[in-house]
Amino acid sequence: MSPDAIRALPKAELHVHLEGTVDSNTVLDLAARHDVEPPAATAAAIDKWYRFDGFPMFLDRYFTVLGLLRDPDDFALIAERYLRRSHDDGVVHVEFHVSACGHIVENGRAWAPIHDGIVRGCAAAAAKTGISWGLIPDISPHLPADACRTAIGEVLAHSTEHLVAIGMGGPADTWSTDDFSPIYADAASVGIPGVAHAGEHGGPEEVRFALEHFSPVRIQHGIGAAQDIALLDELADLGIPCDVCPGSNVALAAVPDMASHPLPLMLERGVTVTLGSDDPPMFQTTLLDEYRTAAELCGLDDEGLRTLAENSLRASLAPDVVKNRWG
Ligand SMILES: [Zn+2]
Repeated sequence: MSPDAIRALPKAELHVHLEGTVDSNTVLDLAARHDVEPPAATAAAIDKWYRFDGFPMFLDRYFTVLGLLRDPDDFALIAERYLRRSHDDGVVHVEFHVSACGHIVENGRAWAPIHDGIVRGCAAAAAKTGISWGLIPDISPHLPADACRTAIGEVLAHSTEHLVAIGMGGPADTWSTDDFSPIYADAASVGIPGVAHAGEHGGPEEVRFALEHFSPVRIQHGIGAAQDIALLDELADLGIPCDVCPGSNVALAAVPDMASHPLPLMLERGVTVTLGSDDPPMFQTTLLDEYRTAAELCGLDDEGLRTLAENSLRASLAPDVVKNRWG
Protein backbone atom coordinates (compact mmCIF):
# COMPACT_ATOMS: atom_id res chain seq x y z
CA MET A 1 0.00 0.00 0.00
CA SER A 2 1.38 3.42 -0.89
CA PRO A 3 2.15 5.96 1.86
CA ASP A 4 -0.75 8.08 0.64
CA ALA A 5 -3.15 5.13 0.81
CA ILE A 6 -2.01 4.36 4.38
CA ARG A 7 -2.58 8.00 5.26
CA ALA A 8 -6.06 7.84 3.76
CA LEU A 9 -7.13 4.85 5.90
CA PRO A 10 -9.51 6.05 8.62
CA LYS A 11 -7.86 4.94 11.86
CA ALA A 12 -7.70 5.56 15.57
CA GLU A 13 -4.61 5.88 17.73
CA LEU A 14 -5.21 4.19 21.09
CA HIS A 15 -1.69 4.05 22.51
CA VAL A 16 -0.02 7.43 22.67
CA HIS A 17 1.05 9.41 25.73
CA LEU A 18 0.14 13.08 25.59
CA GLU A 19 3.39 14.10 27.28
CA GLY A 20 5.28 11.85 24.86
CA THR A 21 4.01 13.85 21.88
CA VAL A 22 6.11 16.89 22.78
CA ASP A 23 8.44 17.32 19.83
CA SER A 24 11.78 19.10 19.93
CA ASN A 25 10.43 22.46 18.77
CA THR A 26 7.71 22.30 21.41
CA VAL A 27 10.33 21.52 24.09
CA LEU A 28 12.07 24.76 23.06
CA ASP A 29 8.76 26.66 23.05
CA LEU A 30 7.87 25.41 26.54
CA ALA A 31 11.33 26.19 27.95
CA ALA A 32 11.16 29.74 26.49
CA ARG A 33 7.63 30.20 27.81
CA HIS A 34 8.79 29.37 31.35
CA ASP A 35 12.19 31.04 31.03
CA VAL A 36 14.11 27.90 31.87
CA GLU A 37 17.13 26.32 30.24
CA PRO A 38 16.01 23.71 27.66
CA PRO A 39 17.67 20.28 27.93
CA ALA A 40 19.54 21.10 24.71
CA ALA A 41 19.94 24.32 22.75
CA THR A 42 18.52 23.39 19.34
CA ALA A 43 15.77 21.18 17.94
CA ALA A 44 18.39 18.90 16.39
CA ALA A 45 20.19 18.58 19.72
CA ILE A 46 16.92 17.73 21.49
CA ASP A 47 16.20 15.08 18.86
CA LYS A 48 19.57 13.62 19.81
CA TRP A 49 18.71 13.91 23.52
CA TYR A 50 15.62 11.85 22.65
CA ARG A 51 17.73 8.76 21.99
CA PHE A 52 17.83 6.20 24.75
CA ASP A 53 19.88 3.24 25.82
CA GLY A 54 16.92 1.71 27.66
CA PHE A 55 13.84 2.31 29.77
CA PRO A 56 15.48 4.16 32.75
CA MET A 57 17.05 6.74 30.42
CA PHE A 58 13.72 7.13 28.61
CA LEU A 59 11.91 7.75 31.92
CA ASP A 60 14.52 10.36 32.86
CA ARG A 61 13.84 12.30 29.63
CA TYR A 62 10.09 11.77 29.93
CA PHE A 63 9.98 13.26 33.43
CA THR A 64 12.11 16.20 32.30
CA VAL A 65 9.41 16.96 29.71
CA LEU A 66 6.73 16.54 32.38
CA GLY A 67 8.51 19.23 34.39
CA LEU A 68 8.13 21.68 31.48
CA LEU A 69 4.35 21.23 31.46
CA ARG A 70 3.21 23.71 34.09
CA ASP A 71 0.18 25.71 33.01
CA PRO A 72 -3.15 24.83 31.40
CA ASP A 73 -1.91 26.61 28.26
CA ASP A 74 1.00 24.17 27.99
CA PHE A 75 -1.37 21.21 28.00
CA ALA A 76 -3.72 22.91 25.55
CA LEU A 77 -0.78 23.58 23.22
CA ILE A 78 0.54 20.01 23.12
CA ALA A 79 -2.90 18.42 22.83
CA GLU A 80 -3.94 20.65 19.96
CA ARG A 81 -0.63 20.22 18.12
CA TYR A 82 -0.77 16.44 18.29
CA LEU A 83 -4.40 16.15 17.23
CA ARG A 84 -3.77 18.40 14.25
CA ARG A 85 -0.75 16.32 13.22
CA SER A 86 -2.85 13.16 13.68
CA HIS A 87 -5.64 14.52 11.52
CA ASP A 88 -3.08 15.17 8.78
CA ASP A 89 -2.15 11.47 9.00
CA GLY A 90 -5.74 10.28 8.51
CA VAL A 91 -6.42 9.64 12.20
CA VAL A 92 -10.07 10.14 13.13
CA HIS A 93 -9.79 9.45 16.87
CA VAL A 94 -7.04 9.63 19.50
CA GLU A 95 -7.10 8.29 23.05
CA PHE A 96 -4.41 10.13 25.00
CA HIS A 97 -2.77 8.50 27.98
CA VAL A 98 -2.08 11.29 30.46
CA SER A 99 0.45 10.84 33.29
CA ALA A 100 -2.04 12.01 35.89
CA CYS A 101 -0.17 10.52 38.85
CA GLY A 102 3.10 11.94 37.57
CA HIS A 103 1.64 15.44 37.50
CA ILE A 104 -0.32 15.18 40.73
CA VAL A 105 1.88 13.04 43.00
CA GLU A 106 5.33 13.63 41.59
CA ASN A 107 5.07 17.27 40.53
CA GLY A 108 2.48 18.43 43.08
CA ARG A 109 0.08 19.89 40.52
CA ALA A 110 -3.70 20.04 40.70
CA TRP A 111 -5.63 17.93 38.17
CA ALA A 112 -8.51 20.27 37.30
CA PRO A 113 -6.46 22.93 35.46
CA ILE A 114 -4.43 20.26 33.65
CA HIS A 115 -7.59 18.47 32.56
CA ASP A 116 -9.27 21.69 31.52
CA GLY A 117 -6.22 22.77 29.51
CA ILE A 118 -6.11 19.43 27.67
CA VAL A 119 -9.84 19.61 26.96
CA ARG A 120 -9.46 23.16 25.61
CA GLY A 121 -6.64 22.13 23.26
CA CYS A 122 -8.48 19.01 22.08
CA ALA A 123 -11.71 20.93 21.53
CA ALA A 124 -9.85 23.54 19.47
CA ALA A 125 -8.34 20.84 17.24
CA ALA A 126 -11.68 19.04 16.97
CA ALA A 127 -13.44 22.24 15.93
CA LYS A 128 -10.95 22.73 13.09
CA THR A 129 -10.59 19.12 11.93
CA GLY A 130 -13.54 17.06 13.21
CA ILE A 131 -11.18 14.62 14.99
CA SER A 132 -12.55 12.94 18.12
CA TRP A 133 -10.58 12.16 21.23
CA GLY A 134 -10.70 10.75 24.75
CA LEU A 135 -8.44 10.75 27.80
CA ILE A 136 -6.85 7.90 29.77
CA PRO A 137 -5.40 9.33 33.00
CA ASP A 138 -2.88 6.81 34.24
CA ILE A 139 -1.22 5.39 37.28
CA SER A 140 2.58 5.61 37.59
CA PRO A 141 3.45 2.35 39.34
CA HIS A 142 6.83 3.59 40.58
CA LEU A 143 4.81 5.78 42.99
CA PRO A 144 3.06 4.35 46.07
CA ALA A 145 -0.35 2.84 45.33
CA ASP A 146 -2.02 4.84 48.12
CA ALA A 147 -0.78 8.14 46.68
CA CYS A 148 -1.88 7.08 43.19
CA ARG A 149 -5.30 6.12 44.52
CA THR A 150 -5.71 9.57 46.08
CA ALA A 151 -4.58 11.18 42.82
CA ILE A 152 -6.97 9.14 40.67
CA GLY A 153 -9.67 10.02 43.23
CA GLU A 154 -8.98 13.67 42.43
CA VAL A 155 -9.22 12.84 38.72
CA LEU A 156 -12.56 11.05 39.11
CA ALA A 157 -13.94 13.83 41.30
CA HIS A 158 -13.42 16.33 38.47
CA SER A 159 -15.20 16.02 35.13
CA THR A 160 -15.30 12.45 33.80
CA GLU A 161 -17.05 13.37 30.55
CA HIS A 162 -13.94 12.87 28.42
CA LEU A 163 -12.37 10.00 30.36
CA VAL A 164 -12.59 6.81 28.33
CA ALA A 165 -10.51 4.69 30.75
CA ILE A 166 -8.03 4.66 33.61
CA GLY A 167 -4.59 3.38 32.65
CA MET A 168 -1.43 1.90 34.11
CA GLY A 169 1.99 3.05 32.92
CA GLY A 170 5.14 0.97 33.10
CA PRO A 171 7.28 -0.57 34.46
CA ALA A 172 5.68 -3.36 36.52
CA ASP A 173 8.38 -3.76 39.20
CA THR A 174 6.08 -2.85 42.10
CA TRP A 175 2.92 -4.69 41.06
CA SER A 176 3.52 -7.57 43.44
CA THR A 177 4.50 -5.40 46.41
CA ASP A 178 1.91 -2.65 46.11
CA ASP A 179 -1.79 -3.18 45.35
CA PHE A 180 -3.06 -0.96 42.55
CA SER A 181 -6.25 -2.94 41.93
CA PRO A 182 -8.46 -0.78 44.22
CA ILE A 183 -7.81 2.16 41.86
CA TYR A 184 -9.35 0.20 39.00
CA ALA A 185 -12.27 -0.72 41.25
CA ASP A 186 -12.79 2.96 42.09
CA ALA A 187 -12.94 3.81 38.39
CA ALA A 188 -15.23 0.86 37.60
CA SER A 189 -17.62 2.00 40.33
CA VAL A 190 -18.25 5.18 38.34
CA GLY A 191 -18.49 3.32 35.03
CA ILE A 192 -14.94 3.90 33.76
CA PRO A 193 -13.08 0.84 32.44
CA GLY A 194 -9.39 0.09 32.82
CA VAL A 195 -6.54 -0.49 30.42
CA ALA A 196 -2.98 -1.42 31.38
CA HIS A 197 0.53 -1.48 30.03
CA ALA A 198 1.74 -5.05 30.45
CA GLY A 199 4.21 -7.38 28.77
CA GLU A 200 6.32 -4.59 27.34
CA HIS A 201 9.66 -5.58 28.89
CA GLY A 202 8.09 -8.33 31.01
CA GLY A 203 6.88 -11.73 29.93
CA PRO A 204 3.53 -13.52 29.86
CA GLU A 205 3.27 -13.59 33.67
CA GLU A 206 2.99 -9.80 33.62
CA VAL A 207 0.10 -9.91 31.15
CA ARG A 208 -1.63 -12.60 33.22
CA PHE A 209 -1.15 -10.51 36.38
CA ALA A 210 -2.73 -7.50 34.68
CA LEU A 211 -5.67 -9.56 33.42
CA GLU A 212 -6.31 -10.98 36.90
CA HIS A 213 -5.85 -7.84 38.95
CA PHE A 214 -6.88 -4.94 36.71
CA SER A 215 -9.50 -6.52 34.37
CA PRO A 216 -8.29 -4.36 31.47
CA VAL A 217 -10.44 -3.97 28.36
CA ARG A 218 -7.24 -3.43 26.34
CA ILE A 219 -3.54 -4.10 26.97
CA GLN A 220 -0.83 -1.66 25.93
CA HIS A 221 2.01 -3.54 24.23
CA GLY A 222 1.28 -7.09 25.47
CA ILE A 223 4.15 -8.39 23.34
CA GLY A 224 5.44 -10.47 26.28
CA ALA A 225 2.34 -12.65 25.85
CA ALA A 226 3.89 -14.01 22.67
CA GLN A 227 6.20 -16.18 24.78
CA ASP A 228 3.10 -18.21 25.73
CA ILE A 229 0.92 -19.36 22.85
CA ALA A 230 -1.91 -20.34 25.22
CA LEU A 231 -2.02 -16.78 26.52
CA LEU A 232 -2.12 -15.34 23.00
CA ASP A 233 -5.04 -17.65 22.26
CA GLU A 234 -6.72 -16.52 25.49
CA LEU A 235 -6.34 -12.86 24.51
CA ALA A 236 -7.82 -13.70 21.10
CA ASP A 237 -10.73 -15.63 22.65
CA LEU A 238 -11.42 -12.93 25.23
CA GLY A 239 -11.30 -10.31 22.48
CA ILE A 240 -8.89 -8.16 24.49
CA PRO A 241 -6.98 -6.01 22.00
CA CYS A 242 -3.28 -5.24 22.35
CA ASP A 243 -2.16 -1.73 21.40
CA VAL A 244 1.26 -2.51 19.97
CA CYS A 245 4.04 0.00 19.20
CA PRO A 246 6.86 -1.75 17.33
CA GLY A 247 9.00 1.41 16.97
CA SER A 248 8.86 2.02 20.71
CA ASN A 249 9.69 -1.62 21.45
CA VAL A 250 12.86 -1.43 19.38
CA ALA A 251 13.83 2.04 20.68
CA LEU A 252 13.56 0.86 24.28
CA ALA A 253 15.15 -2.52 23.59
CA ALA A 254 12.03 -4.47 24.61
CA VAL A 255 12.97 -6.59 21.58
CA PRO A 256 16.53 -6.95 20.26
CA ASP A 257 15.58 -5.77 16.76
CA MET A 258 12.55 -5.37 14.51
CA ALA A 259 13.05 -8.79 12.91
CA SER A 260 12.53 -10.35 16.38
CA HIS A 261 9.28 -8.48 17.06
CA PRO A 262 6.39 -10.86 17.85
CA LEU A 263 3.74 -8.87 15.96
CA PRO A 264 3.52 -11.50 13.15
CA LEU A 265 2.86 -14.24 15.73
CA MET A 266 0.24 -12.15 17.54
CA LEU A 267 -1.63 -11.61 14.27
CA GLU A 268 -1.26 -15.25 13.27
CA ARG A 269 -2.88 -16.34 16.57
CA GLY A 270 -5.82 -14.02 16.01
CA VAL A 271 -5.08 -11.39 18.66
CA THR A 272 -6.81 -8.11 17.89
CA VAL A 273 -3.92 -5.69 17.40
CA THR A 274 -4.04 -1.93 17.06
CA LEU A 275 -0.95 0.10 16.23
CA GLY A 276 0.24 3.04 18.29
CA SER A 277 3.26 5.34 18.28
CA ASP A 278 3.56 5.53 22.12
CA ASP A 279 5.83 8.61 22.38
CA PRO A 280 6.39 9.44 18.72
CA PRO A 281 9.02 12.23 18.64
CA MET A 282 10.94 10.52 21.42
CA PHE A 283 11.16 7.38 19.28
CA GLN A 284 11.55 9.21 15.94
CA THR A 285 8.35 7.60 14.70
CA THR A 286 4.81 8.45 13.63
CA LEU A 287 1.67 6.34 13.44
CA LEU A 288 2.15 6.12 9.66
CA ASP A 289 5.68 4.81 10.22
CA GLU A 290 4.19 2.12 12.48
CA TYR A 291 1.79 1.01 9.73
CA ARG A 292 4.65 0.87 7.22
CA THR A 293 6.77 -1.10 9.70
CA ALA A 294 3.93 -3.55 10.38
CA ALA A 295 3.37 -4.07 6.65
CA GLU A 296 7.03 -4.89 6.13
CA LEU A 297 7.44 -7.01 9.26
CA CYS A 298 4.30 -9.09 8.72
CA GLY A 299 4.15 -9.02 4.92
CA LEU A 300 0.71 -7.40 5.10
CA ASP A 301 -1.19 -6.70 1.92
CA ASP A 302 -3.76 -3.91 1.56
CA GLU A 303 -6.40 -6.02 3.27
CA GLY A 304 -4.08 -6.70 6.21
CA LEU A 305 -3.41 -3.00 6.72
CA ARG A 306 -7.10 -2.18 6.39
CA THR A 307 -7.82 -4.77 9.09
CA LEU A 308 -5.37 -3.09 11.49
CA ALA A 309 -7.01 0.27 10.87
CA GLU A 310 -10.48 -1.20 11.38
CA ASN A 311 -9.31 -2.93 14.56
CA SER A 312 -8.32 0.46 15.96
CA LEU A 313 -11.75 1.94 15.26
CA ARG A 314 -13.57 -1.04 16.77
CA ALA A 315 -11.30 -1.29 19.84
CA SER A 316 -11.62 2.38 20.68
CA LEU A 317 -13.60 3.38 23.74
CA ALA A 318 -15.38 6.23 22.01
CA PRO A 319 -19.12 6.30 22.60
CA ASP A 320 -21.26 4.75 19.85
CA VAL A 321 -22.55 8.13 18.77
CA VAL A 322 -18.96 9.12 17.94
CA LYS A 323 -18.10 5.75 16.35
CA ASN A 324 -21.10 6.10 14.05
CA ARG A 325 -19.63 9.34 12.73
CA TRP A 326 -16.63 7.45 11.33
CA GLY A 327 -18.97 5.61 8.97
ZN1 LIG B 1 2.87 3.40 26.39
